[in-house]
Amino acid sequence: SGRSAERAIAAAEAHGAHNYHPLPVVVASAEGAWMTDVEGRRYLDLLAGYSALNFGHRNRRLIEAAKAQLDRVTLTSRAFHHDRFGAFCAELAELCGMEMVLPMNTGAEAVETAVKTARKWGYRSKGVPDGRARIIAAENNFHGRTTTLISLSTDPEARAHHGPFTPGFPIVPYGDLAAMEAALDAAPEETVAVLLEPIQGEAGVVVPPPGYLAGVRELTRERNVLFIADEVQSGLGRTGTTFACEHEGVVPDVYVLGKALGGGVMPVSAVVSSREVLGVQRPGEHGSTFGGNPLACAVALEVVAMVRTGEFQRRSATLGELLHRELGPLIGNGVRQVRGRGLWAGVDIEPSHGTGRQISERLMDRGVLVKDTHDATIRIAPPLVIGEEDLMWALDQLRAVLAE
Ligand code: PMP
Repeated sequence: SGRSAERAIAAAEAHGAHNYHPLPVVVASAEGAWMTDVEGRRYLDLLAGYSALNFGHRNRRLIEAAKAQLDRVTLTSRAFHHDRFGAFCAELAELCGMEMVLPMNTGAEAVETAVKTARKWGYRSKGVPDGRARIIAAENNFHGRTTTLISLSTDPEARAHHGPFTPGFPIVPYGDLAAMEAALDAAPEETVAVLLEPIQGEAGVVVPPPGYLAGVRELTRERNVLFIADEVQSGLGRTGTTFACEHEGVVPDVYVLGKALGGGVMPVSAVVSSREVLGVQRPGEHGSTFGGNPLACAVALEVVAMVRTGEFQRRSATLGELLHRELGPLIGNGVRQVRGRGLWAGVDIEPSHGTGRQISERLMDRGVLVKDTHDATIRIAPPLVIGEEDLMWALDQLRAVLAE
């Protein structure tokens, strides 16, 4: 009833820390691209858990794999081997065209792991003394919320009163190759890595100019600097290819994966790289109680198998073309700009038509759930299993809201 929704929201407000500002919908169940609230109202999910739900809510294969594993063993810790771990690492490494995998749980943990690994690799392979390593990152990045990762954030809200920060992260404008070259050449001996999202998700689905990623790849290779691609949000089918780096034919030195790797069932993340890079991690130097646990590995193994079919990438590419074709004519009609690739779009709303939050609330009233980003942007990133008619219906709702 309406009262149970109110009660749930009141309890969340009273006892949950206010570190999010959720839309006033209380989800009780979900299937595919649809969620149902406690009152039985249905909503089309155009956020997909920030791309954790690429394969849809309660994807059958993932639920079956999880249930089967629940009946065997869920957690061993890495103190012992378990029978899913090696297979998971081997399959994921192969999907990435890499050699080794270091599993963690969340995206932030995996980026932290990549940062620590790159610094140690710099010491081993380039002789960068402790305390001197530089990792170049981009303006408006989002890599996670730990103290070190907000140290390289340029979002004042994320940083405010959370310092002191971790040093060693020069920042360059995203998409500016000359600035990247200058930052690399400011201290090439001490620069161990460039850390980039191949498409910036939280910034509002910002696609870099053509040639940028390929240029960064060339600059880093020439200078023996690692290219770390944070594909936590862009990877595993979201952009119409397995990895967003593929759009420029780029193979980074390190992939950071998360979100969709656990299919929205388990938190699963990973750093995937060469033996030379991940081989610098020795026993006892880094780890996680839950990283690489049997339940996570069982689910992620199924995710890798599904990604390997190519089916989700194809859906994202085909439906994404449709999405962007439909969004294009809205420019000048309530929309200022549209960016993105595949089933992933950042839509800047004309201020005269309301804030991103207001548009999100009005879409919610019409049964469509999106996420506002900053003041003026909404993000569209449905599960890749969304039906074509459902997607078209959601766009009808957006057009209606903009016309109101
Ligand atoms: N990297 C990127 C590119 C992300 O989009 C996110 C989450 N939005 C993260 C890292 C952090 O992931 P998590 O929330 O699982 O820590």
